[in-house]
Amino acid sequence: MVANRSRDTRPEVALRRTLYLRGLRYRKNYRLSVGSESVRPDIVFIGARVAVFVDGCFWHGCSVHRTVPRLNRSFWEKKLRANSTRDRRQGEALASEGWIVLRVWEHDATPDAAARVVAALMAAQAKC
Ligand SMILES: [Zn+2]
Repeated sequence: MVANRSRDTRPEVALRRTLYLRGLRYRKNYRLSVGSESVRPDIVFIGARVAVFVDGCFWHGCSVHRTVPRLNRSFWEKKLRANSTRDRRQGEALASEGWIVLRVWEHDATPDAAARVVAALMAAQAKC
């Protein structure tokens, strides 16, 4: 099932390519330990402490494209709710350790997403 792929999704690859062409260097799928959590953002700028997640609209329940499959509905509702809870918890854990956390939706236009990443990197620099 293509929708099930969590790494190297098309929007993620497009965003990474755009950032790379702008001369930005990052780690992909770099594992971070925060508190008791192991978090693996899609794009990580280690020095700037900026973590970027490219969230799939279905799996992370974006407000525009949120759907719940009719079959096994209660299973999916629970599963998708758990995903959102985990996203929030991990984001808070990262933020509490000084990370700037950026969540980009799969439906976001790549140039817009890239602009937000650049803005976050500038904000991170300003903190130093
Ligand atoms: Zn969406």
